[in-house]
Amino acid sequence: MLKDQDRIFTNLYGMHDRSLKGALARGHWDGTANLLALGRDKLIDMVKASGLRGRGGAGFPTGLKWSFMPKQSDGRPSYLVVNADESEPGTCKDREIMRHDPHTLVEGCLIAGFAMNAVAGYIYIRGEYIREREALQRAIDEAYDAGYLGKNACGSGYDYDLYLHHGAGAYICGEETALLESLEGKKGMPRMKPPFPAGSGLYGCPTTVNNVESIAVVPTILRRGPEWFSGFGRPNNAGTKLFGISGHVNNPCVVEEAMSISLRELLDRHCGGVRGGWKNIKAVIPGGSSVPMLNAAQCEDAIMDFDWLREQKSGLGTAAVIVMDQSTDVIKAIWRLSKFYKHESCGQCTPCREGTGWMMRVMDRLVKGEAEVEEIDMLLSVTKQVEGHTICALGDAAAWPIQGLVRHFRDEIEDRIKAKRTGRMGAMAAE
Ligand code: NAD
Ligand code: SF4
Repeated sequence: MLKDQDRIFTNLYGMHDRSLKGALARGHWDGTANLLALGRDKLIDMVKASGLRGRGGAGFPTGLKWSFMPKQSDGRPSYLVVNADESEPGTCKDREIMRHDPHTLVEGCLIAGFAMNAVAGYIYIRGEYIREREALQRAIDEAYDAGYLGKNACGSGYDYDLYLHHGAGAYICGEETALLESLEGKKGMPRMKPPFPAGSGLYGCPTTVNNVESIAVVPTILRRGPEWFSGFGRPNNAGTKLFGISGHVNNPCVVEEAMSISLRELLDRHCGGVRGGWKNIKAVIPGGSSVPMLNAAQCEDAIMDFDWLREQKSGLGTAAVIVMDQSTDVIKAIWRLSKFYKHESCGQCTPCREGTGWMMRVMDRLVKGEAEVEEIDMLLSVTKQVEGHTICALGDAAAWPIQGLVRHFRDEIEDRIKAKRTGRMGAMAAE
């Protein structure tokens, strides 16, 4: 278990002074100019050495992503963009950082911006996060007043501006290229990749898009050393991590733990266990709604990191752990997600626009048992037509939860169809 002194987001544990005074007391902004004096290459090397992988869901190595940014300007400015459009169902970890510890993010933005030679940073925050926006704006204003941002930031000789931009409630704007489109004032529709944002991002300029948590952990990694951070978790799965646990646990919470903690320890230690006891567990979505669920047998041994969950055909994603006990109608739960993805599809590519509708309509009938058993395989085949054939990951995200449902609960789906049919037949015989 992670010790208190190894927690980066101490504010999540009861110290709720989010002002600059509170941040200074917790060690933020301490010797930031000295960190910048290490130089760009050294900073990127340290982040690489820490093993930090992107906390937005995909787990792409953060230091490597930074290293894609041009070292010499070709006349175009470079930008850092922070993706704070946290909208994945079940996910509310970045919200905690912005609400309770906004200076960790603001300081991280300065350091990351410097490492990438960015002229400015933009934080794109989810429209519904109103309190968080206020807290973050206050932190940015305080940092300007203290000379930490703006001209000669922290006395380093580096000029850096940081802007907060709020979205308007579209899930798809959390996709990094749709976010850039939206930031440019256009409709939030994903772009084809490549080019990746480091080659052509905001206004066609070199840009790195990072998640809130990925940026907020950077100052502490640099202060405590990359080896401290890489000391947590299994190889290739380093660091401390925020987990957001919801559903059928006794105390839902957002908690920071060491990567690779077992699911059981995570739930028992921080959430008071599963409602009705561990044996009452039916399924868990371990990483936000876009990843396939685990069944009860997998939960027994589950290790909460990128590689273990991928081996199980699931994923760590946003580390939003959604616990479902035996009382859960899992078919209905996944049906609800299908509705969500259908609603949020931007409609730009055919497999996603048509496929999400198809999948939802079959799920509409499966949830009521009003389908033929053969349609389960037809549904699976539709998910395969969508998966990997779309511009952005929303298509995969719509397909994978259904694949997980069929993999683990095919019997339950078939039983519902048969029960409905028997009921129908019985009713017909009675007529
Ligand atoms: P991705 O794998 O396409 O990319 C991840 C990051 O790595 C991106 O920044 C991308 O530009 C970069 N990258 C990948 N390959 C690269 C290459 N060859 N060269 C340069 N850069 C490269 O994934 P994605 O579509 O950005 O994210 C999908 C994930 O987002 C899902 O796993 C899901 O868990 C997560 N998600 C999170 C939320 C949320 O609210 N936090 C919402 C929806 C989805
Ligand atoms: Fe839009 Fe869906 Fe295509 Fe993504 S996959 S670009 S959300 S239509």
